[in-house]
Amino acid sequence: MSAPTRTPTGRNEVTSEAARRRTFAVISHPDAGKSTLTEALALHAAAITSAGAVHGKGDRRGVTSDWMEMEQARGISITSAALRIEYQDRVLNLLDTPGHADFSEDTYRVLAAVDCAVMLLDSAKGLEPQTLKLFDVARGRGIPVITFVNKWDRPGREPLELLDEIEQRIGLRPTPLNWPVGIAGDFRGLVDRTAGNAYTKLHRTPGGATKAVEEPVDAARAAEIEGAAWEQAMEELALLDEIGAHYDAESFLAGKSSPVLFGAALPNFGVSHLLRTLITLAPAPSARADASGTPRPVDAPFSGFVFKMQANMDKAHRDRMAFVRVCSGRFDRGMVLTHAASGRPFATKYTQAVFGAERHTLDTAYPGDVIALVNAQALRVGDTLYDGPKVEFPPIPSFAPEHFAVARAVDSGRYKQFRRGIEQLDSEGVVQVLVSDVRGEQAPVLAAVGPLQFDVVRHRMEHEFRAPVELSHLDYSVARRTDAASAPVLHGLSGAEVLTRRSDGELLVLVHNKWRLRVIQRDHPELLMEPLLAGG
Ligand code: GDP
Repeated sequence: MSAPTRTPTGRNEVTSEAARRRTFAVISHPDAGKSTLTEALALHAAAITSAGAVHGKGDRRGVTSDWMEMEQARGISITSAALRIEYQDRVLNLLDTPGHADFSEDTYRVLAAVDCAVMLLDSAKGLEPQTLKLFDVARGRGIPVITFVNKWDRPGREPLELLDEIEQRIGLRPTPLNWPVGIAGDFRGLVDRTAGNAYTKLHRTPGGATKAVEEPVDAARAAEIEGAAWEQAMEELALLDEIGAHYDAESFLAGKSSPVLFGAALPNFGVSHLLRTLITLAPAPSARADASGTPRPVDAPFSGFVFKMQANMDKAHRDRMAFVRVCSGRFDRGMVLTHAASGRPFATKYTQAVFGAERHTLDTAYPGDVIALVNAQALRVGDTLYDGPKVEFPPIPSFAPEHFAVARAVDSGRYKQFRRGIEQLDSEGVVQVLVSDVRGEQAPVLAAVGPLQFDVVRHRMEHEFRAPVELSHLDYSVARRTDAASAPVLHGLSGAEVLTRRSDGELLVLVHNKWRLRVIQRDHPELLMEPLLAGG
């Protein structure tokens, strides 16, 4: 192995570099403002040089635009990149979740690689379906959640009503860090509860492309200029104090309470407070439990796991790229790591960091960082890479598919390409591939969390593997885990079918719908029909 020798100071370096990092994702429903917020965060942290060029959907030249262009060139948006933002001696790694209206497993998997999530709400809409689904995954993983109520510059709901919705619907106790003066749509400024209720008046700048002018104003003057809006905010703040809605580190880190910030990403109001909150309250990378449950300290030798695979991001090179979240140790480009699943060496000469628009060649990385490995044909989502004594992290759970389709090669003469393509998409985790003797090798069943995944399959099979596929939708919507003893009985029942998941050999039973499932469970309580994750 060509791992660099480690000195005692090297270990300290890793610990202090890890402590500087905050690795998070934004969870939201499409249109809540995730792209706008991402750009505003980067802009505020001065990661983008040309401020005037980063707003508006039509003309995005900012951090996300080149990715979007790449995605558009591929016909479909499936990218999940990492954006690195340096702010006040901290390194924020923002892992992007695909922003599509449709859902795919990619979105869930990103949450396996972060230490914190920002739940972004549209002030007029509150909790929306995809926010709820993602929140469930975040909760399942025990990730702390910071809430940002966006679009306060537009008419929306009452702040107290929004807090109530969060508490009632998802059982997360909201602890506001700031409070808006002026109702949604008539946004005057923000009171910072973490700084003795200091008031900042907001002045819009035309177009909202540049930083908002935030003017500190003392309370007496604020009361004068804001009048009734100020009074109302003061009453609401007194109420919050009364009910004890204060930030509490322990329950936040346990995923039981959520610091809440009000703001507006587009005119860049309240975004600096979110940045400050991320660097002060969000947890730094910490020891991660390996498959045996033993926590691996951040200063242990290098380890990381693949949370996303992507093929052909660069048209010039038909490669496969693996995105790896660093869990421990210092990564130096050129290291030869071990691939835990196969025990084989993995050379990292061509490692890259993916920061928004550009791919940089990356020389070092620390816990919390994301590295992209090219030529990663041998890797699969969930795989561990390590240096030194063997370590393996638990697999990333695959989520309960709800959409199923049989795939066939349109041109039977291209069956070889068809098989290769399906295998690759399976190993990347684009879809889950299910097979059975009854259906035969030529007609695998593809299982997806969101129907968008099928579009990706169609597109890539045709353009990348030159083996167009025909997908026939199957009338199933529920998948459960079963076993060899139950399989023959289940297979004989109407409205159910047993298949083997190719990636792990797990037996899954597909059922028409929940009602049919309930009937089967009632009539055959002895059969194993175990829920899979999320929505199962
Ligand atoms: P995404 O789908 O979550 O990435 O949402 P976008 O960032 O694309 O935003 C959706 C729309 O909401 C766009 O038209 C944005 O300009 C707009 N938007 C985002 N944030 C704000 C905000 O704070 N105020 C207002 N008025 N509009 C916003």
